[in-house]
Amino acid sequence: MRKLICLVVVVVFLTPVKGQNPAYARKVVDTLCSPWFAGRGYLKDGDLKAAEYIKAQFTEAGLKPFGSSYFQQYGFTVNVFPTDPDIYIDGDRLTLGADFIPEAGCRTLNGTFELVWVDSETIDDPRKYKKFVDDTRFRRSFLVLNNLNRVKEKNLLKKIRNNEFKAAGIVEVVTKLMWSVATRQDMFPSFQIRPGLISPTSKLIKVDVFSQVNTHQTQNVAGFIKGLEKPDSFIVFTAHYDHLGMIGKSVYFPGANDNASGVAMLLDLASYYATHKPKYSVAFIAFAGEEAGLLGSYYYTQNPLFNLKSIRFLINMDLMGTGSKGITAVNATVYPNFFNKLEIANTSGNYLSPLNQRGKAQNSDHYFFSEMGVPCFFFYLMGDYPYYHEPDDKADKLPMEKYTEAFLLIRDFVTELETP
Ligand SMILES: [Zn+2]
Repeated sequence: MRKLICLVVVVVFLTPVKGQNPAYARKVVDTLCSPWFAGRGYLKDGDLKAAEYIKAQFTEAGLKPFGSSYFQQYGFTVNVFPTDPDIYIDGDRLTLGADFIPEAGCRTLNGTFELVWVDSETIDDPRKYKKFVDDTRFRRSFLVLNNLNRVKEKNLLKKIRNNEFKAAGIVEVVTKLMWSVATRQDMFPSFQIRPGLISPTSKLIKVDVFSQVNTHQTQNVAGFIKGLEKPDSFIVFTAHYDHLGMIGKSVYFPGANDNASGVAMLLDLASYYATHKPKYSVAFIAFAGEEAGLLGSYYYTQNPLFNLKSIRFLINMDLMGTGSKGITAVNATVYPNFFNKLEIANTSGNYLSPLNQRGKAQNSDHYFFSEMGVPCFFFYLMGDYPYYHEPDDKADKLPMEKYTEAFLLIRDFVTELETP
């Protein structure tokens, strides 16, 4: 019995106050990164499932939709790989996701090709470069681009990367496989391969890749809480919920830091303001299509659900899963008065260090709001977390070590914003 009482006491103390809830944030990250959500992209209805989950969280928190639905629907085209791409080097099969990936815009190709090795010497040595250009063999071959970081002849390198010599395809040897999203196909197929799997003595590559450009219907998810004193003026929180999705049937990109972490903060803030009624109205928007080129936030700024001029301030959150090395505010130098308020909040709570300032940057969903004259910051946390746009950006690797501090900084900054 005493044991039971102890347990009850422990549970009560471990259950955080609703609305500033690291355990809830962690659960959101775990959920959104699970295989069911398929990397919140373009196969297996990944981003739709994530949108439904966010909608359910908004409803539970008591947010109201703008109009009759939490969803704002729109569409765009995207290149997808419905089946697993295959590569063999001299007969050895490489493992998708671990050894190689196709570039996001890679087009369909099936066949066996000779390999032509290209390194910094090929490009920087005029004699070798001439020999390479004169060698018409590469027109039916794959170029293997290796260790080109130190190439001095940048123009020649650009020509090769753009495939101006019309090789059958390009393989780039990279230490880190890093994926993205393409809204159309490249003019030629290309792949990233990890070092040690291909060498100057490798002869043949066998390629079997199928991709297609689909028209993808998607949705931003938006809701709000009415303010007590200034209901017609808004503080807006945004975070993109999409990530890169899947390649074929087996490789998916969980996107824990990018940006399940930002969605977790967004949802936690929503439940916080639902129980701590704000002076201003507070809106929450989860965008789709960020990884495809800020498409959801661009669509929103062209089709806003309420007047953009009624936004007092917008806070965009992307990459919120670390913090041991501080926080950066993009647009800090554009809005020095608002940055001053942020500094006051950070210093008085002793939350995150350092607090870095950046200027304007087209690197997340705040950007088009900024261009439309909406005052905004984009916050991202920094720490020792090396995984970016790769399958290892996983929930169980994400530290979230300064989650609470970041939450409290944002909350106190909003309080500063509410003070004229
Ligand atoms: Zn992101």
